[in-house]
Amino acid sequence: MALNVENIRAEFPILSTKVGKYPLVYFDNGATSEKPTAVINRVSKYYREENANIHRGVHHLSQISTTNYENARHSIQAFIGAKKSSEVIFTSGTTEGINLVAQCYGELLSKGDEIIITEMEHHSNIVPWQMLAERKGLDLKFIPLKENGTLDMNAFEGLLTNKTKLVAFTHISNSLGTINPIEELIEKSHHVGAKVLIDAAQSLQHCKVNVQELDCDFLVFSGHKVFGPTGVGILYGKEDILNQMPPYKGGGDMIKEVSMSKTIYNDLPHKFEAGTPNIVGGIALGTAIDWLNQFDFNEIEAYEHELLAYATTKIKEIDGVMIYGTAENKSSILSFLIDDLHPYDIGTLLNQQGIAVRTGHHCTQPVMDFFKIPGTIRASFSFYNTKEEIDVFITALKKAVSMLR
Ligand SMILES: *Cc1c(COP(=O)(O)O)cnc(C)c1O
Repeated sequence: MALNVENIRAEFPILSTKVGKYPLVYFDNGATSEKPTAVINRVSKYYREENANIHRGVHHLSQISTTNYENARHSIQAFIGAKKSSEVIFTSGTTEGINLVAQCYGELLSKGDEIIITEMEHHSNIVPWQMLAERKGLDLKFIPLKENGTLDMNAFEGLLTNKTKLVAFTHISNSLGTINPIEELIEKSHHVGAKVLIDAAQSLQHCKVNVQELDCDFLVFSGHKVFGPTGVGILYGKEDILNQMPPYKGGGDMIKEVSMSKTIYNDLPHKFEAGTPNIVGGIALGTAIDWLNQFDFNEIEAYEHELLAYATTKIKEIDGVMIYGTAENKSSILSFLIDDLHPYDIGTLLNQQGIAVRTGHHCTQPVMDFFKIPGTIRASFSFYNTKEEIDVFITALKKAVSMLR
């Protein structure tokens, strides 16, 4: 059975809106996904019928909110295949998840220890490690890129030593679309005793990921890229490692007992969830995950691959097109330049025709440095996009190019 894209589109009110007189063509899914009615309604229902603080009150609404929030945690646990729901920690997003690990796992590291990341990371998987390396006197190393936008796995083996304590990498590159060989990266990292963090910000909306099968130590993602709200995300961590890590935010909900002289921390997951969280965000992220779960990921992958292949063939009809990221194993992200035309100018002309793409460095400046370019134009597809939209995009792109040449 194939996906019924027309029915899926009907669940996203924004997809039938217009930009000026043009129907919206939303190809900026790498930056954030649009939201289905189920998620929009869940947010509204929470504020209309359920709003109360969680883990605190004995009253009716507080109990409802607490139950719904914890049920969302269970949905997410099942979705990523975690052994226990206490290994699923609510954060504000991928960025906070990585910062949490850098701060708290970082506390267990000492001078001379080594961390390996890659040249294709999003800035949020670079800067926290640079800050940690400086604070603790650690060595930070980068797995280099190859011309087709894949990782140099031979070079990776040369970087691993018995001082390597953590290897952190993205599952799918947000600027190139490359799908990394995460099983091999995990196995080789574990071989020297290093822990592994996966940045799954670009993957859970496209393919099935199971943290126990992968045996990764940490995995982070953002709610807003998987059809959920902004301001909420998940850090998965293995229980024994999370238990060893000290918390980094102090406050309500993360404590068992506070006296003037000392504090006893709460158990997982609450130890890392200080303060009133994004309650509605967490609940609606659960709704987004439940919504996503009705689909077969093999069908999503096949359809998105078809969109990518179609767009790639079509865009090559345009003279002077250069595609960045030509890995065989690639997600539905198409990054390109046309001659020396500025990405911003093309993005502006596409916007004037109702088309949303991202232009710039996509928070991956080292990737742009590698290719010696200032940025790219990025069209990133979701399974609610269509070939007809790609046709509109290609026609608009040709028009933009003819205006600029
Ligand atoms: C979007 C993204 C991030 C950052 O996510 P936030 O939601 O901004 O915290 C990190 N890594 C990758 C690969 C991303 O695509």
